[in-house]
Amino acid sequence: MTHNYTLHSPTRVECLCCYLSQSFTFRSKSDQVVCEHCLHHQGSNSARANQRNQDHLGMWLARSADERAERAEEVRRLNADVDRRNKDIAALRIELEGFKAALQSELKQRPLADVQSWLESAAVDAATTERDIAYRSRDHVMRCLWELDRLHHEKEGQPNQCSCGSTAAQCREFQALSAVTESLYRWETRQLGRLRDNLPHGLPRHHPDVSRSEFHSAG
Ligand SMILES: [Zn+2]
Ligand SMILES: [Zn+2]
Ligand SMILES: [Zn+2]
Repeated sequence: MTHNYTLHSPTRVECLCCYLSQSFTFRSKSDQVVCEHCLHHQGSNSARANQRNQDHLGMWLARSADERAERAEEVRRLNADVDRRNKDIAALRIELEGFKAALQSELKQRPLADVQSWLESAAVDAATTERDIAYRSRDHVMRCLWELDRLHHEKEGQPNQCSCGSTAAQCREFQALSAVTESLYRWETRQLGRLRDNLPHGLPRHHPDVSRSEFHSAG
């Protein structure tokens, strides 16, 4: 009897005697598909058959205990992972709240030129650093700016009007944002591209395109 398994490298294959998946390194197509524990199980007298059944029972029990332990370990690992991520999320939320609060108080208290250059440097920092965490904090900054921009943006066809109702010249938020709208919109376009390609993106969940795509994938 010949087999078609890979030769000369370890493969996991079900043993034809004990039916457990075992590691084999086949040297030829005519090697028996019987694991090392089962080599002495070959033969058909009844004493051997008894011994074989007993051995198999022992092997199965040991294997199922191993697998249970592996699964428990996997569950522990996943739980630890979830804990770690939850902590990350909590830390990022706090950072985000801090940023929002800072943004609001800066907007109220600081001279406009300061706020603009502060926003500009936040946007530039965020756009030029390549580390993963920096990407995430860039996305935080951009989400905050996006929220603000949603309330205060140029009215369509009315370049001197802010969408909040003030004129552009009177709206402090509008003035401050004008320093960063270009990078904000560039960021948004890039994130929308990622959303379309089903890649992770930094858009807020209530961004109209995000809610629409969630609606579609849910329905
Ligand atoms: Zn076997
Ligand atoms: Zn066996
Ligand atoms: Zn406004």
